[in-house]
Amino acid sequence: MKVVMKFGGVCTSSGANILRIVDIVREHVKRGDKVVLVTSAMAGVTDGLLSLIDNALAGELDGIEKSIAMMRDRHVQACSEAIEDDELRHETIRDIEGLTQELHFTLRIISYLKEASPRTRDRVLAFGEKMATRIVWRALMSEGINAEYLTGGQAGIITDDNFGRANPIMSLCEERLKKNLVPLLERGIVPVVTGFIGQTVEGVETTLGRGGSDYSATIIGAALEFDEVWVWKDVEGIMTADPKIVPNAKPVPKISYEEATELAYFGAKVLHPLALKPLIEKHIPLRVKNFFNPENPGTIVHHEASNDGIVKAISMIPRVAIITVSGAELYEAPLVITKVFKALYDVGANAIMVSQSSSQTNISIVVPEEKAPEILKGLKEVLPKNCDVAWEGDVCVIAVVGSGMRGRPGVAAKVFSAVAEKGVNVRMIAQGASELNISLVVKREDAIKAVRALHDAFVGD
Ligand code: ASP
Ligand code: MG
Repeated sequence: MKVVMKFGGVCTSSGANILRIVDIVREHVKRGDKVVLVTSAMAGVTDGLLSLIDNALAGELDGIEKSIAMMRDRHVQACSEAIEDDELRHETIRDIEGLTQELHFTLRIISYLKEASPRTRDRVLAFGEKMATRIVWRALMSEGINAEYLTGGQAGIITDDNFGRANPIMSLCEERLKKNLVPLLERGIVPVVTGFIGQTVEGVETTLGRGGSDYSATIIGAALEFDEVWVWKDVEGIMTADPKIVPNAKPVPKISYEEATELAYFGAKVLHPLALKPLIEKHIPLRVKNFFNPENPGTIVHHEASNDGIVKAISMIPRVAIITVSGAELYEAPLVITKVFKALYDVGANAIMVSQSSSQTNISIVVPEEKAPEILKGLKEVLPKNCDVAWEGDVCVIAVVGSGMRGRPGVAAKVFSAVAEKGVNVRMIAQGASELNISLVVKREDAIKAVRALHDAFVGD
């Protein structure tokens, strides 16, 4: 079997966990499987790097030094626990020291210039994956598994220059990933690739957006036409709801690409929203597996929509705002709509939901709450004077997802009666033409009640 395995931040977080990675890989290598590893930064490190950029911009050099020292110690500690071979351990510790020095240097430049462009930010964010991946690589070597370290860019993940959220250029990725990784695999070497990182055609480092290591793994899986991509997490799989909200939530054994994409889009944090894209065309399945319970099958995401149950899962986006534009004359409506979406585009925001009243003079959009002030400002500048712009915060989007809803009457009625029975008022609703999900907006104080009611009504025990 040929499999790309992605190990997330929890898996790389400590020496003990890195040794678990080694155990898993050893099993597969022994069986003769061809494995490519993709690894994330230790949990919390990417957030830490983001704060360091803020500190540098604010000129807080003392704070930076302390944080970098802590980051270095955490990685050195993991080296000491996970790499038994003296020489390999020392080499890795030297690497970590070199990388943290380079990080320090970059942050000093940011603090002198008081500027961090998206390109510079990517350079800083990439340090987390580089440090963690080196430890995993040498831990494998130390246990006698032949492995090779590559950054995403060195492996062949070529992207555009949309720094912070770069897009892979799949034709180039395919060509280069094959050229760089296949010869290693043929020699029995396990490539260990930094997740999250790509590079432009000119060789400038980029990142694929937060949570982007999933995406790195699926880009590699698709390019090499592997049998499966496995994403190792600290959960049982894709769950019927967030277990922190719904204690009796359970893993979904099988789910289609479409359903899983919908869930990722509507706030389920288990996969990067774009991660499935590379796999769909090639029908390569993705498995979400529990790192702490590797025997369990987890969730398989594939092209078939299994019809067990009408609804697969309920997800929620906690912090959104509704912006409503009203008062336009009927003849102005198309122009107003164009301007509304342009205002979103200008601030890089996405319309999570859109609803338009039949008179066409009233349009409501749901946007991430943190983007609302900027969007409102933009709208006030561009809309005709007779238009009214109102907004409502403290609301959440809840999505009920499942392909079994398609062509089945009564599902919406059941959704509304389930929440109405709990006294929850629905502020806005939308259903995609694909009938894959029904999404609703409720007040924040009602959100947990509503998710639980929907889970009880559709998934149960
Ligand atoms: N380390 C990156 C992040 O925290 C990428 C990832 O974890 O997938 O967003
Ligand atoms: Mg992650």
